[in-house]
Amino acid sequence: MKNIAVIGSGTMGNGIAHVFAQTGYQVALIDISEDALKKALGTIEKNLDRQINKEIITEEGKKNTLNNITTFTSTEEGVKNADLVVEAATENIDLKLKIFQDLDKWCDAKTILATNTSSISITKIAAVTQRSEKVIGMHFMNPVPVMKLVEVIRGYNTTDEVTAQIMDLSKNLGKVPVEVNDYPGFVANRILMPMINEAIYSLYEGVAGVEEIDTVMKLGMAHPMGPLQLADFIGLDVCLSILNVLYDGFGNPKYAPCPLLVNMVEAGHKGVKSGSGFYSWGHGTKDLIVADRFKK
Ligand code: NAD
Repeated sequence: MKNIAVIGSGTMGNGIAHVFAQTGYQVALIDISEDALKKALGTIEKNLDRQINKEIITEEGKKNTLNNITTFTSTEEGVKNADLVVEAATENIDLKLKIFQDLDKWCDAKTILATNTSSISITKIAAVTQRSEKVIGMHFMNPVPVMKLVEVIRGYNTTDEVTAQIMDLSKNLGKVPVEVNDYPGFVANRILMPMINEAIYSLYEGVAGVEEIDTVMKLGMAHPMGPLQLADFIGLDVCLSILNVLYDGFGNPKYAPCPLLVNMVEAGHKGVKSGSGFYSWGHGTKDLIVADRFKK
């Protein structure tokens, strides 16, 4: 594989383009928004500078990486020569189904179609194409240039050969791929989201406060950050939607989202992206400040 197309240049897309380009692949970075593409190139450049400061790459490496990326606002044009497409557009089922229908028309029959979805069924996405055996999940973690894991998700019809190709490719990017099957939440979110939900229930039921819950998990379980802080980073709306996928997919009440989480999302407190969640954000310091509502 030489030519990779990345669809969506947001939080994940720019990181995915970064690691492919840094490894020497030719990357077509595609977004419907010209502004998003501009912002993505700025983010990639900033992250490459950070890697230079940490002596991970040289100025030459930065130049080569940026030279390997071309941007497009037309998906049809951007995917023309792609050996692999990694879709990282907004998490919306109808949008993804439409993108995959179009990709199936526009891409060469050999092209593998991967999605970075956090929670949508790979099998369902694959079913709108005529090449379900070549559709696969490639779930990178945020921030992509830093995090080692790629959860490689086999749809119901994904072949051994395609899975092996994506496992090898992920290793080539310096990542550690883990192969999993396509069931709601895959592995990462099936385990992470109930933990976050349980942390929110502990707060809701008054078992302990925000800082106490996060401290127990940080110091007691050696997690780099507590589950409530992590939920703020992921976005409380994203956590809620993944929990709903688990709840609907398994029909098991143990996945029911905590009513406090539902209220917070409905009230617009979505975590870092909205300025407040369990903590208050955007105050210009690195200190963790518990949101007023949860102060004792
Ligand atoms: P984001 O909102 O930051 O970026 C999405 C981008 O997709 C936007 O720039 C938008 O303009 C673009 N887009 C929308 N429709 C498009 C189309 N038809 N064609 C091309 N571009 C289009 O979202 P994100 O956080 O980067 O998430 C992208 C995907 O990655 C989602 O499926 C999400 O579930 C998954 N994911 C996110 C994270 C995370 O921590 N943010 C982690 C793992 C996986």
